[in-house]
Amino acid sequence: MRPMSDILDALRADVPGLQLLTDEIDRESYRRDEALHHEPGLPLAVALPRSTDEVAAIVRIAAAHRVPVVPRGAGSGLSGGSSGIEGAVTIALTRMDRILEIDPENRVAVVQPGVINADLKAAVAREGLFYAPDPASYEFCTIGGNIGTNAGGLCCIKYGVTREAVAAVEVVLADGAVIRTGGRGVKDVAGYSLTQLMVGSQGTLGIITEATLRLRPAPQRSQTVLAFFPTMAAAADAVTRTMASGVTPCTLELMDRFTIAAVDDWHRLELDRTAEALLLIESDLGGPAAEAEIASAEAACRTAGAAEVVRSTDPAEADWLRQVRRMAYRALERLGACRMEDVAVPRSRLLDLLAEIGTIAERHQVRCGTFGHVGDGNLHPTFVWDRGDTASEERVEAACQELYRAAMGMGGTLTGEHGIGATRVHLLAEQRGSEAVRVMQRIKSALDPHHILNPGRVLPLE
Ligand SMILES: Cc1cc2nc3c(=O)[nH]c(=O)nc-3n(C[C@H](O)[C@H](O)[C@H](O)COP(=O)(O)OP(=O)(O)OC[C@H]3O[C@@H](n4cnc5c(N)ncnc54)[C@H](O)[C@@H]3O)c2cc1C
Repeated sequence: MRPMSDILDALRADVPGLQLLTDEIDRESYRRDEALHHEPGLPLAVALPRSTDEVAAIVRIAAAHRVPVVPRGAGSGLSGGSSGIEGAVTIALTRMDRILEIDPENRVAVVQPGVINADLKAAVAREGLFYAPDPASYEFCTIGGNIGTNAGGLCCIKYGVTREAVAAVEVVLADGAVIRTGGRGVKDVAGYSLTQLMVGSQGTLGIITEATLRLRPAPQRSQTVLAFFPTMAAAADAVTRTMASGVTPCTLELMDRFTIAAVDDWHRLELDRTAEALLLIESDLGGPAAEAEIASAEAACRTAGAAEVVRSTDPAEADWLRQVRRMAYRALERLGACRMEDVAVPRSRLLDLLAEIGTIAERHQVRCGTFGHVGDGNLHPTFVWDRGDTASEERVEAACQELYRAAMGMGGTLTGEHGIGATRVHLLAEQRGSEAVRVMQRIKSALDPHHILNPGRVLPLE
C-alpha cells in the first residue's frame, strides 16, 4: 500500500490549479453533514473542483491509489451520506455552481451540481418557469445533493420528488470515465434508464457533474388554509377527507403540538398552542380553481373537527406560512440536541403511524416533535434531549430503531426522502429483502469494482 501523501502529490501534480484543502481545521469542517448522531471520519483532503475534467481526474487518481472519495454538496443531508470517511478524499461540488442554460422551448434547465436549489428556482421564475422540487432546506442545499438523495419536500404531493424533474445527467464513473444519460426530449426509451439509477444513489455509483432538469410553467398565486385540530385523529381524518374530495393541493403539511410551541416560542406567531395538530394546505391553481380547491380542503377540515380554520389569499402571507413550516426543525434544535427521523407509510396508515410515534416516545421517555409531509404519508418525528445527556441519547437510539420497524411493519419505509446514507444501512435488507440487496450489490460492483465511491453508504461494506 502506498503512503497516503502519494495521492496528495499526484493530485497536486496532475490537476494543476485544483483547490485542495489539507489543513486539519479545514478538513474538520467537512467531517459531518447534518446527521449529528453519526460518528464520521476525518477526510484526508477536501477537493473543490471547478469542472467535470477536474472531477474525472480526481476520481482517476483516487482509483489508482485505491483511496475512496465522498461526493458532497452543501452537507445538509440527514443520513451521513456526505460525511467524511477516514482517509478518503471528499469532493465538494460547491464551486461548480453555474446555471448553464435555461431552455424555455423544451422546458429544461442545464445546471452544474453545486447550484443552490433556491437560486435555480429564482432564475427560472424570471423566465416565467418553475422548478418544482422544494425541500425545506431549499435555501442552502444543492441540486447535486438533491439528485444524490432524490430529495422530497413540500410540493411532492402534487409535483413528485426530485426524480420526476431529472431528465438527464452527466456522471463521472468510478474509473474516471464520463457518461451522459437521458436528454431533453419528453420521450426516450433507448436502453436502461441510467438517469434514474443515478438519482438517489447518494454518490455510490457515480458523481453527477451536470444535470438537465425539467421545468414547468410558473404556478399561480398561492391560497392557503391553516387548520388547528383538537386531536391527531381529527387531523389525520382531515387529510383523508381532503384527498378523498378529489383535490390535489400543492402542499399538505402537519405540525404537532410540541412543534407548534417550539415555532411559536421562537417567532411569537400567536399560533393556537392548545391544538394537538396543525395542517397547512396550499393551492397554486389560481383564480376560481384555487378557490374551489381551498374550499374543499376547508370543508374537509371542518367536517373532521377542526377547532379553527384560517384562510389566506395574500401570496406574501402564504409564503410566510410555508416559511413557518420550514422553520420546524430549526425551532426544535433550539431546545437541545435533535435527531430528525424520516419514516413514511401509505396514507391509509397515517393515523396508525402517528399513534405509534406517541407510544414509542412515551415508552422510551423521550421528547418528540412530529411534523412533515403528511400528504405524502412522510413524517419527521424529531427527538429532542438535553445536550450531553447520554442516557437520553441512548433511549432515543432505541426509540428510532422501533420507529423504523413500526413504519416497515405498516408497509412503509424507514426513510421517505433523507436516504439510507451511513445511518440506516443496517436495516436496508430488513426492508428490501436480502435478494434485492444482493442485486444492488451486483450493480455497485459492476460500476465500482474497487468500491471507491462513497463506500459503506446505502449498502453495507462487503
Ligand atoms: C433544516 C433542514 C430541512 C430539510 N428538509 C428537507 C426536505 O424537506 N426534504 C428532503 O428531502 N430533505 C430535506 N433535508 C435534507 C437535505 O437538505 C437534503 O437531503 C438535500 O438533498 C441535501 O443536499 P446537499 O447539497 O446538502 O447534499 P449533501 O448533504 O452534501 O449530500 C447528500 C448526498 O448526496 C450525495 N451527493 C452530493 N452531491 C453529489 C453529486 N454531485 N453527485 C453524486 N452524489 C452527490 C452525497 O454523497 C450524499 O450522499 C433537510 C435538511 C435540513 C438541515
